[in-house]
Amino acid sequence: MKASIWLGKDKFEVRDVPIPEIMDDQVLVKVKKVGLCGTDVHITQGLFPSTPPKILGHEFSGKIVDVGKNVDKNNIGKRVACNTTSSCGNCHNCKNWTISRCSNEIKSSGAFAEFSAMPLSSAIEIPENMSYEVAAMTEPASCCLSGTEMIGYKDDSKILIIGSGIMGILCLKFVKQKNIGYVVVSEPNPLRRKMALEMGADFVIDPRGENYQEDLEKLKGEYGFDVFVEAVGNPNLLAEGISHLGPRGQALMIGVHPEMSNLEYDLYDLHYKEIRLFGAFGRGDSFSSVPKIIESFGLEKLVTRTFNLDEINKAIDLTAEGNGMKYMISP
Ligand SMILES: [Zn+2]
Ligand SMILES: [Zn+2]
Repeated sequence: MKASIWLGKDKFEVRDVPIPEIMDDQVLVKVKKVGLCGTDVHITQGLFPSTPPKILGHEFSGKIVDVGKNVDKNNIGKRVACNTTSSCGNCHNCKNWTISRCSNEIKSSGAFAEFSAMPLSSAIEIPENMSYEVAAMTEPASCCLSGTEMIGYKDDSKILIIGSGIMGILCLKFVKQKNIGYVVVSEPNPLRRKMALEMGADFVIDPRGENYQEDLEKLKGEYGFDVFVEAVGNPNLLAEGISHLGPRGQALMIGVHPEMSNLEYDLYDLHYKEIRLFGAFGRGDSFSSVPKIIESFGLEKLVTRTFNLDEINKAIDLTAEGNGMKYMISP
């Protein structure tokens, strides 16, 4: 099969490699679409640990084309969203943390390739009318669902989301499911602000705009926001968002912050206002429920462009520039 091998730094090479062998309880998936993720960009920049040579790609969908001898043959032909890890359900992490942090996980093989092997339990059937593009967003969406489910909501909650990239938009969609009519999205890129409005934001503001402080103060009102979602991964924005929270405000960290970074914030304020801060990393327990939930979200419009396997560098550069929404690879 053809696979794009990551050779370190930003070097990828399409090579012919053997199709991954499947174990008795595994399935072989013909990969249809793979989302390019900020983490892939960070790996090529040395900001996220990974060792070459390797087949990257972890946000993907496809069709089951072969099964191991313990798997029912009726699974062949199923259209699936692919989870990157399996879980045992019995270890300490599965029982006390989440199943996506299982210490006995079996990883799916990399997705920037024509085929990927994984346990049957990692291949989740998708709704009949769901495109492979949208199904490939199950992974980032499950991270956002797992995070937004940590928060307690009230009907009149005022929510501030900083960052309207793919994670900000997905969080927006999930909080709007809570019947909340006051979600403010702050984003400097006009195209992403427009997207936030189309996807259901009640207000958008431009942090580089002239009237930003004034607009924000007006929207914040007398008591501040109840919930703040940081969807960028910038410690300064995290501190800024927390400062806009009211008493017992809740802050959710969806963006990936750099290792060893610090939160510069007045701890007295955090203490006095009884602020709660939620870290959120990974898919939690939510992956298998996500395809059905996101079916009605209209996520097709988030796919900016699809590239071939030998064009990964173009997709990485565009993702790193922060323009557009989601870039996909079609192996
Ligand atoms: Zn990702
Ligand atoms: Zn486990």
